[in-house]
Amino acid sequence: MPAAQATVWNFYAGPAALPRPALERAQGELLNFAGTGMSVMEISHRAKPYMALHAEVQTLVRSLLGVPDSHDVLLLQGGASLQFSMVPMNLAAAGGPAAYVNTGEWASKAAKEGKQLAGATVVASSEATRFDHIPALPAIEPSCAYVHITSNETVQGTQWQAFPDTGDVPLVADMSSDIMSRPLDVRRFGLIYAGAQKNLGPSGVTLVVVDKRLYERIPKGLPTMLDYRTHAQADSMYNTPPTLAVYMLRNVLSWLQDQGGVSSIAARNGRKAERLYEVIDRHSDLYAGHARPEARSTMNVTFRLPDEAIEKAFLQGAEAVGLVGLAGHRSVGGCRASIYNAMPEEGVAALAEFMLAFARRGA
Ligand code: PMP
Repeated sequence: MPAAQATVWNFYAGPAALPRPALERAQGELLNFAGTGMSVMEISHRAKPYMALHAEVQTLVRSLLGVPDSHDVLLLQGGASLQFSMVPMNLAAAGGPAAYVNTGEWASKAAKEGKQLAGATVVASSEATRFDHIPALPAIEPSCAYVHITSNETVQGTQWQAFPDTGDVPLVADMSSDIMSRPLDVRRFGLIYAGAQKNLGPSGVTLVVVDKRLYERIPKGLPTMLDYRTHAQADSMYNTPPTLAVYMLRNVLSWLQDQGGVSSIAARNGRKAERLYEVIDRHSDLYAGHARPEARSTMNVTFRLPDEAIEKAFLQGAEAVGLVGLAGHRSVGGCRASIYNAMPEEGVAALAEFMLAFARRGA
């Protein structure tokens, strides 16, 4: 018998912790998916059991996120990064240049593609203060093709607290790191996209929710796989979908439903984040939060300690007690606690206790 594994709390930013019941369900069903006597990885995506799973995922997304009939739910590949390109390729043809809000690492990457592929412009940026807040949106020209925002900046740890009103100009949001963490009104968005590997499941599948009215502006002649209509018309089965990732998405979404859905998880997420920011504020001599308080993310809590040696001691001490994945993104350093939907309050409490003890010890 291998030795019992001590509890590990996983704070990685993505791929990230999955709900334990979703993993246990996969373990139980691995060799016999839906009574087939085979694993989900081994059956045709055109076979009935897979088709039923695929439909179940779309239904769960619709009900959990409140997606109206005006919008399609697509399951794509290529990660959120491919959406950085697909959005301008498909949606920029109408009207004037698209407008991007540059809030950090990921918004910058999205804007780069928007500029390169469709001459988009950055209309607001928080770069001058190291992306520590969400800048105000200037008046948007009604002719603008779309406005692109990043609802949660995974690296800097900032989050839009309320979404901007862009009138008739479609709002496009990269929600990779906070999708389904809080309720929202999907009707206000032209398009939402999210790589699954933070709040939804493993990497390999990307969720896109798109207003069908936008299809009419898609230019002719796009590569077939890069045209949203291809996937909408084929119900996201134009080619072989990432079946194992879609299966895990189902397990995570049905777990989320069991938790009471997005509004219940939002209340829990709020408590979790508050717990950590409270420690940061109480010991501001040791922990310097990166995001301004009014822009703090409930998903990625970013902070620095006085110097790199102390940060190293903090990270090593944390790891020694099973608090894993707390190093900040390689581009900014420091520390980051990613506390997505699947992180239980107990895990956050363990980190808060460790941070308090580290402060008491006198670093
Ligand atoms: N947008 C955000 C907000 C992200 O956090 C990430 C990944 N960390 C990406 C986009 C890129 O996603 P992918 O790796 O799925 O291309």
